[in-house]
Amino acid sequence: MAMENMNGQIVNAATGEPMKMKNCHQCHKMRSDADGNCVTKKGATTCVLKYCPKCLLTRYGEIGEELAVNDNWVCPKCRKICNCSWCR
Ligand SMILES: [Zn+2]
Ligand SMILES: [Zn+2]
Ligand SMILES: [Zn+2]
Repeated sequence: MAMENMNGQIVNAATGEPMKMKNCHQCHKMRSDADGNCVTKKGATTCVLKYCPKCLLTRYGEIGEELAVNDNWVCPKCRKICNCSWCR
């Protein structure tokens, strides 16, 4: 669980450690639970797009926890089905 501390930082409620916030490609919000390990190569690097579980489920019917354990996941953008406001 994430919560905001006195300094306005998002921290892990259990440990008090600052959470790493990632930008969800779909809803453009900074979220602690956005994730993605898209395997598509972009030249020398790998695609770094992140999607939050809510967007994955509502837009693509995918379960966030399942892609975390999927070694061959390709993000919706690389599948050319991304329907976010940037890609449309
Ligand atoms: Zn999102
Ligand atoms: Zn990708
Ligand atoms: Zn997109």
